[in-house]
Amino acid sequence: MTQNKARILIVDDEKMNLKALADLLKDTYTVMLAKSGEQALNLAIDPPQPDLILLDVVMPEMDGYEVIKQLKQDERTNQIPVIFVTTLGSSEDEELGLKLGAVDYITKPVSPPIVRMRIHNYLNLMHKHKLLDQLAHLDGLTEIPNRRCFEEHFHKECSRIARNEGVLSIAMLDIDFFKQYNDYYGHQMGDRALETVAKTMIQSLKRPADLGARYGGEEFVMLLPETNAEGALDVAERVRAAIAALKIPHVTSQVADNITVSIGVTSVQGNCGCSLEKVLEIADHNLYRAKHSGRNRVVGDS
Ligand code: GH3
Ligand code: MG
Ligand code: MG
Repeated sequence: MTQNKARILIVDDEKMNLKALADLLKDTYTVMLAKSGEQALNLAIDPPQPDLILLDVVMPEMDGYEVIKQLKQDERTNQIPVIFVTTLGSSEDEELGLKLGAVDYITKPVSPPIVRMRIHNYLNLMHKHKLLDQLAHLDGLTEIPNRRCFEEHFHKECSRIARNEGVLSIAMLDIDFFKQYNDYYGHQMGDRALETVAKTMIQSLKRPADLGARYGGEEFVMLLPETNAEGALDVAERVRAAIAALKIPHVTSQVADNITVSIGVTSVQGNCGCSLEKVLEIADHNLYRAKHSGRNRVVGDS
C-alpha cells in the first residue's frame, strides 16, 4: 500500500492476545483494538472504518461467528474483509468460519512472520482489486464515470427514493452535429472536444450526490438525486450554457459557430416503480424533441 497506512481492527477478549498482535502489526499498520464483539461492531461502523478485521472466535457474550454474521448483514460493514484468528483448529471450525464469509482462517498460537505475510498479501490483493474496480467504472477517454457506473448509481438511488418517496431526475445530453465536427476537424480533435465537454458537464454539477457519466459515443447522462423537474431543467440549462460558453469552434454546425449540445430531461417519483429502460426512453424522447425543435436547447416532460 503506497498511500495511507491500512487500518486493522483486532478483536480478542484476551488482553495478552491483543497486545501480541498489536505489537506485531503496529509499525506497518494503524491498529484498532476491541475487547468484545459489541465493541468491534461499533468500531467497524464508525469512520474511519477498518480495512481488515482480525477476529477471535471464542469470546464471552458475543462470539466471533455472531460478530461476522452481523458485519455481513449490515451494508455499512459487509465489504470489510475478516480473518479469523482462533484456537479452534478443527477443519469443521475452519469451514464454518469461511462459510460465514471470512477471507482467511489462522489458528493460534500464531507464527508472527506468517501472520504478517498473510495480512500483507491480502491487503495487497485488496488494493489491486479496488483499483480495478475504480477503472471498471471510468470511461477510458474522458476519465469520467461510465455507463456501468451510472446504471449502478441509478439503481441505488431508485431503491432509496422508493423507500422515502423522493424524486430524482435524469438528463441525457448529446452533442449537436458531432459527425460533421469529426468529418471537418478529424477524430483526434473530436476526442479532445469530448473530453472538454465531459469536464465542463462535471464542473457544472454542484451537489455531491449528482453524477455525470459518459453514456456512449457523444452522449452523456446526468443523474440528479433529490432534484425535481424544475431543478433538473435549471441544472441542464446551466450545463448547456457552460458548454456553449466554451466557444469551441464548429464551423460545420448548422445551429451555431461553436459546439453546442441538446439535452432531454425527465423526473421520477419514488412511487412510480419506473425501470431504467423506461426512464431513459423518456429522457431520450425529450432529447429527440430538443433536436427536432432546433438543437442547442433543453427539453423536459411536457
Ligand atoms: P445530432 O445533432 O443529431 O446529434 O447529429 P450528430 O452528428 O451529433 O449525430 P450522429 O449520431 O449522426 O453522429 C454522432 C457522431 O459522434 C458519430 C461519431 O463520429 C461521433 N463519435 C461517437 N463516439 C466518438 C468518439 O469516441 N470519438 C469521436 N471523435 N467521435 C465520436
Ligand atoms: Mg448521438
Ligand atoms: Mg449528436
